[in-house]
Amino acid sequence: MTQIKDLKKRFSNIKKIDFINNLLRWDQQVYMPEGANKGRAELIAFMNSLKHKKLVSEKTGRLIKKAEQVSNLNLIETAILREAKRAYSKAIKIPIDLVKKIAKSVTIGHKIWEHAREKNNFSLFQPILQQIIELKKQYAELIDLGSSPYDSLIDDYEPGATSAWIQSLFDELKLQLISILKKILKSNNGPDDAILHRYYPSEKQWQFSIELIEKLNFDFNIGRQDKSVHPFTMPLSETDIRITTRIREYYLPACIFGTIHECGHALYNMGFMEEIHSTNLAEVTSLGIHESQSRLWETIIGKSQEFWNYFYPLLQSYFPKNLQKFPQEKFYRALNKVEPSLIRVEADEITYPLHIIIRFEIEKMIFEDHVQVGELPSIWNEKMNDLLGINPPDDALGILQDVHWSGGAFGYFPSYTLGNLYAAQIFSYAKEQIPNLHDEISQGEFSHLLKYLRDHIHQYGAIYYPHDLIKRINGDALNIKYFITYLKEKYYRIFKI
Ligand code: ZN
Repeated sequence: MTQIKDLKKRFSNIKKIDFINNLLRWDQQVYMPEGANKGRAELIAFMNSLKHKKLVSEKTGRLIKKAEQVSNLNLIETAILREAKRAYSKAIKIPIDLVKKIAKSVTIGHKIWEHAREKNNFSLFQPILQQIIELKKQYAELIDLGSSPYDSLIDDYEPGATSAWIQSLFDELKLQLISILKKILKSNNGPDDAILHRYYPSEKQWQFSIELIEKLNFDFNIGRQDKSVHPFTMPLSETDIRITTRIREYYLPACIFGTIHECGHALYNMGFMEEIHSTNLAEVTSLGIHESQSRLWETIIGKSQEFWNYFYPLLQSYFPKNLQKFPQEKFYRALNKVEPSLIRVEADEITYPLHIIIRFEIEKMIFEDHVQVGELPSIWNEKMNDLLGINPPDDALGILQDVHWSGGAFGYFPSYTLGNLYAAQIFSYAKEQIPNLHDEISQGEFSHLLKYLRDHIHQYGAIYYPHDLIKRINGDALNIKYFITYLKEKYYRIFKI
């Protein structure tokens, strides 16, 4: 079957361009001197256009047609063809002119957003945001996937998901979270997290983070960790996975949980089955599933009591001055403080999804109800008040806090919360299958859990879409009840409710 082989090769080459681009971007954020930025941006743009040309070329179309004529394709080949068609049919719908316009407007948009945030003034950002939204509307109409233009944008991050489906999940989730939050805020047993804000020397934090991910089975033979302003995971091939972390000397969780989060992403990237290496399936199936892997390790494992049964003595040995006499239980409670706050990235497990729901509802209004861009700050503030009970004092701490919209990444936000929901559901299944999981975690033993994730999630890469992937485990579709149960069990105990 040379037809499928030829197609495979075509997309393997396209993937190589992605990897080269990733290497350029990894270096840009980790080592590159500031002055090299312009030249690097040109290299990245060149690689992007090379990829686009290869993808939309007649040859690619021909190879897809030929492969479609082959009967009896196996599971992997069928998925290779499906993904090839998906990428190709999306790319040919968008004229190169629009691709360039979007690329240009988000480059400018990013700079203006930084400036507007610094000046704390949404109106500076408004005209370019308006332009980006208009271009994304054109894009969505051309892609034309679901019943709403927003669906076409969501599909770039979450194949198969629709805004109606997400809304049905989020509506229920919102009610449940607000009710849990109300109970927590009434409790007088809230943790004190002052211990986390003491001075923790940078070098020691770094050493601890390395020891930590070694224990979590991060494979240093095919990966490494570095430092960057914003932590990220970047695959440079199937056997070269880079992660980064950041260190704040007066806020211990930044490094620890940034590291665990990215390690969770990396374990997924490191776990694709060999049969799909060098194909378009050696890819995370969606951002939501990607995020489920990072959040599972970061929050469900990393912020659990069992995890610190093992790691707290080690952490104490790194920072005896602060922690030697500080009880583990109090440390665990400090990590799990709950408090409505202005900034999404600093939010706890209960309020984080509410931040996401606000952004989802606003994006939906933009693309489905055609709300005016000038109205967005007041809508934002209203929703912050409704859901979290706080009023942003200004735009920088409100609508200007996230980078996503300046980059045209509409439809991205829901993935974060879908990730939490998937994580809770997957972990609840894993617990059933690994009888001593809690004891294992207490002993710093994570290999059975990793094997479970490898077997049910990682190895498949993009063979199955999220919906099928989760159903294959236990027959159930994604359901918020697992996440809600997890939150109630954990936080009602912490807050003695
Ligand atoms: Zn992530």
